[in-house]
Amino acid sequence: AKEQGPAIYQFYLPQMNERAVARLKLETQLRGALARREFVLHYQPKVSLVSGKITGFEALLRWWHPALGLVPPFQFISVLEDTGLIVSVGEWVVLTVCEQIGRWQDQGLVPHPVSVNLSARQFQQQDLDAVIEKTLRITGIDPRLLEFELTESVLMKEAETAANALQNLKAFGVQISMDDFGTGYSSLAYLKRFPLDVLKIDRTFIRDVTTNPDDATIAVAMIKLAHSLGLRVVAEGVETREQLNFLIHHGCDEMQGYYFSRPLPLENASQVLMEDRRL
Ligand code: C2E
Ligand code: CA
Ligand code: CA
Ligand code: CA
Repeated sequence: AKEQGPAIYQFYLPQMNERAVARLKLETQLRGALARREFVLHYQPKVSLVSGKITGFEALLRWWHPALGLVPPFQFISVLEDTGLIVSVGEWVVLTVCEQIGRWQDQGLVPHPVSVNLSARQFQQQDLDAVIEKTLRITGIDPRLLEFELTESVLMKEAETAANALQNLKAFGVQISMDDFGTGYSSLAYLKRFPLDVLKIDRTFIRDVTTNPDDATIAVAMIKLAHSLGLRVVAEGVETREQLNFLIHHGCDEMQGYYFSRPLPLENASQVLMEDRRL
C-alpha cells in the first residue's frame, strides 16, 4: 500500500523519529515556558578567600517544568541555543537579574555584583549591547553590579561581533569574566584581545588540584597569569577544605562551589545576603 512507503524508511525512521519528535516536543514546550513564566534563576554565591565574605552571585537558569519539576540547564540550554530561543530567554535573564539587584538595594542589603552567562548565539544578535543598555537604564541599577560570563568558545565563534559588543558593554561600566578558563582554545590570545576583569578557573582543574601535581601546576600558573594581567581570579567547583586551603595558599582571590554553597533559590540567596550584612 502507498502508506507503507519504501522499505528503507520502515527500517530506520522509527528511531530517528523518536529522537526528532522528543526534541521537537521539548522545543515547543520551551517556547511556551517563557510565556508561562516557568524559568527561574538560582543564585550561587562567590566568596572572597581573604575575608570569607560574599563578593557576588552567579545567576543560573532552571526550568520549573509543570510535570518534571526543576530541570537543570544541561537538559535544555543546547535546544535554546540551536533554536535561537536563548536570545529571548537571555534577555529575560538580564532583566530579571537587574530587577533583583534593584530589589536587594531597596531592601537595604549590601549590593554585590551578579553575573549572567552569555551564549555565542546572543552575540549574533546585532543589538545585544543596546538591549543590555536599555535594561540598565529601565531598572536604573549601578552597571558595576552587573557582570557577564563568556566562555572561550563564544570569543572563538563570534570574535568580531564579540569584541565590539564587549567594548560597548565595558563602556557602560559592567564587568566581564572569562568563564571555564583553560577548557577552550587559544586562551592566551583572548586574554589580551578582550577587555576582561575576571578569570574563572574551570572546575576540571580544581577537582584534583590537591592530588594531581599537573593540575596543581596549571592552577598556580593560571592564578599568576591572571594577576600579572591585572585580572581577579575565581576558582570554580570548590568542594573541599583541602582545595580551599590550596587556593588560599596560592593567592586565588575568590571561590565558588558546593563547599561554600550550592546555587540557591531566590529566598535563600536573600537570606544569605541578610546574614552577610550582620557579620
Ligand atoms: P557554568 O557557567 O560553568 O556554571 C557553573 C556550573 O557549575 C553550574 O551548573 C553550577 O551549579 C555548577 N557548580 C557550582 N559549584 C559546583 C561544585 O562545587 N561542584 C560541581 N560539580 N558543580 C558546581 P548549572 O547551574 O547546572 O549550569 C550549567 C551550565 O549551564 C552553566 O555552566 C552555563 O554554561 C549554562 N547556563 C546556566 N544558566 C545560564 C543562562 O542563564 N544563560 C546561558 N547562556 N547559559 C546558562
Ligand atoms: Ca558561568
Ligand atoms: Ca564556569
Ligand atoms: Ca562550565
